[in-house]
Amino acid sequence: MHQAKKKFGQNFLKDHNLLKKIVSSAKIEGLDVIEVGPGMGALTQFLVLNARTVTAYEIDTSLKPILAKFENNHPNLKIIYGDFLDMEIPNGTFHLVANIPYYITSSIIFKFIELPQMKSATIMIQKEVADRINAKPNSKQYNALSIILQYYCHVKKVMDVPRHMFTPKPNVDSVVIRLEKYDTRPLNNEQELYFIELIKHAFKQKRKTLINNLYEAYGIDKEVLITYLKTFGLDEKIRAEAIDVQTFIEMAKKPINK
Ligand code: SAH
Repeated sequence: MHQAKKKFGQNFLKDHNLLKKIVSSAKIEGLDVIEVGPGMGALTQFLVLNARTVTAYEIDTSLKPILAKFENNHPNLKIIYGDFLDMEIPNGTFHLVANIPYYITSSIIFKFIELPQMKSATIMIQKEVADRINAKPNSKQYNALSIILQYYCHVKKVMDVPRHMFTPKPNVDSVVIRLEKYDTRPLNNEQELYFIELIKHAFKQKRKTLINNLYEAYGIDKEVLITYLKTFGLDEKIRAEAIDVQTFIEMAKKPINK
């Protein structure tokens, strides 16, 4: 029997109905899938039945004997041992489906965003992170992550998954979310760099007004900043948390520091 390793974020799934639901919500029939952390193959066993190919990255080599059985039975499955975050992803078009290790949730999500080969992600993550990704303006959870993710992807919550569905039981509840990358985006590369920088500065200190955060980031005269915000119909007292994704996009088209 495999002993779950905490340092690798191992919380295994068993329930076949849940696993099948994850696979069907991923819409991967005939497509190429990447899985992070196959573990003992709970999700993998259903992915291989649906996808054209499954490439699974697993850091824990002690799982080799268990996973080798799946690999032998399914020619469309390839397991690569190592840290997913260090892996070069081949050319092609891939869909990420995974019950991911929670200690690297954001790194996995950012790798997904950065790789143009990755088209969608159907992933089990902590509810707390899912709430942030899905958050709307003027809510406590709305932050830089919400805006950046919603800019790149159509975000959809698939389902809640209570902690008792995992072995061992984690300290948090989970959510399956689906991120579908938009084929085209409204900003060019240079504008996107500024967009991300602007958002990070804007949320640096959530309680401060946007003007104060921008003043600290760019050292631009507050009167100039007030005029800048007015171009977008924003009040000088506004905080970043009240500004929607579309308005940040408009701001990225007219950088303040240029
Ligand atoms: N998919 C399985 C296991 C989920 S637990 C299931 O649903 O039951 C998370 C898995 O990710 C574990 O197998 C763990 O060993 C693996 N893992 C942790 N860190 C990893 C990393 N950096 N790269 C690849 N796999 C990793």
